[in-house]
Amino acid sequence: MMIEKVVIANRGEIALRILRACREMGIKTVAIHSEADRDLKHVRLADESVCIGPAPSDQSYLNIPAIISAAEVTDAMAIHPGYGFLSENADFAERVEDSGFIFIGPTADSIRTMGDKVAAIETMQKAGVPCVPGSDGVIDEEDMATNLRIAKEIGYPIIIKASGGGGGRGMRVVHTESALNSSISLTKAEAAAAFGNDKVYMEKYLEHPRHVEIQVLSDGQGNAIHLGERDCSMQRRNQKVVEEAPAPGITAEQREKIGAVCVNACNEMNYRGAGTFEFLYENGEFYFIEMNTRVQVEHPVTEMITGVDIVKEQLYIAAGEPLRLKQEDIKINGHAIECRINAEHHKTFIPSPGLITRYHPPGGPGVRVESHIYAGYTVPPHYDSMIGKLICHGDTRDVAIARMQGALSEMVIDGINTSTKLQMSIMQDANFQAGGADIHYLEKKLGM
Ligand code: ADP
Repeated sequence: MMIEKVVIANRGEIALRILRACREMGIKTVAIHSEADRDLKHVRLADESVCIGPAPSDQSYLNIPAIISAAEVTDAMAIHPGYGFLSENADFAERVEDSGFIFIGPTADSIRTMGDKVAAIETMQKAGVPCVPGSDGVIDEEDMATNLRIAKEIGYPIIIKASGGGGGRGMRVVHTESALNSSISLTKAEAAAAFGNDKVYMEKYLEHPRHVEIQVLSDGQGNAIHLGERDCSMQRRNQKVVEEAPAPGITAEQREKIGAVCVNACNEMNYRGAGTFEFLYENGEFYFIEMNTRVQVEHPVTEMITGVDIVKEQLYIAAGEPLRLKQEDIKINGHAIECRINAEHHKTFIPSPGLITRYHPPGGPGVRVESHIYAGYTVPPHYDSMIGKLICHGDTRDVAIARMQGALSEMVIDGINTSTKLQMSIMQDANFQAGGADIHYLEKKLGM
């Protein structure tokens, strides 16, 4: 392994996940952390640690010069960005490589293209990936006649989306012609304020889709594979709550077909790294919405059914090794479900940082816990509320659900509110158990 030391440019459970992968591979680790994160588990376990700034993310986990300096002073070779924070920041990837370090992820060019949704859709269309019917490019606020025509052709309802959007923000559904003009203006203004980019485009608004995504690994040397799909339809405010693999009802033929389309797109783009093609799935058809150019929160469900360690493969790819796996090596075994555990009230969703007084993680066959928390740990108020993930695997989906119910009931996290009760109610929900609920189902269940 050519990489000897890695800076983990993240926090929480994913930082610990990266640390574990590095340790198994004999790679030394450098934890960087904010002043609020001295007590993080991976900071204590890392070979070295560097405090890079105060608690607010913009002064620490988003502070590019501080992170690069940390890599310099520790003589590291590579930087793993995890997810969130700088993981999809093309300027960061560029600065990392210009400073002589390996960025564990795609090239800055790939990140830039996929970060601009209009450019991403254009690239996908060229590569033969099916996309949502839409404006095929940025729309001009001034040219109402054209906008009205496009919307009519697509057919209402349509959705106006910010090209630079992310995190489920910068989108507006339009049901009638009379609302089109003002919706475009509003979305543009919001996008300018939130993303510093006011470009917007139009898509058909699919009313009952599921969110189905394809995991890929590609080495940038002409070898790419897919690891099947995940279903992430259980969402609240466009944020995923539960994920599973494989997606209920998707046949092996469908998987091979859409997987091959994604692999082909990776080769066309000369994509390097792990990545996810996100699709909306409705009436048996896949419609591309965006590509994520990083490891995803929900990667463990794919790992559980394929036996592939996605983080390790990221490291091998970054080290310049040709992909170690071939498509025929990938076999799907059983079913896996992931529940995100958030430090928040299960009904009001109000964040609940604070001291964890007692903690008992669940265990047993097929149960995997990805979390950095421990009894005596204080969840800081400055960051995302996700404090861990519970992943259960079984020979069948029913076994995975039963295991998840058992694991949720075993888990004790005292001192703060968590989303485990919400997760239990989903696991006990007849429509979830039936499989195949759409992206609006959870909000309906919650009465939103
Ligand atoms: P982000 O980058 O903010 O996550 P996405 O393009 O991935 O944005 O969309 C996030 C979510 O918004 C999707 O999972 C889906 O729930 C909803 N969405 C996006 N586009 C459409 C569409 N054309 N029709 C229906 N829902 C959509």
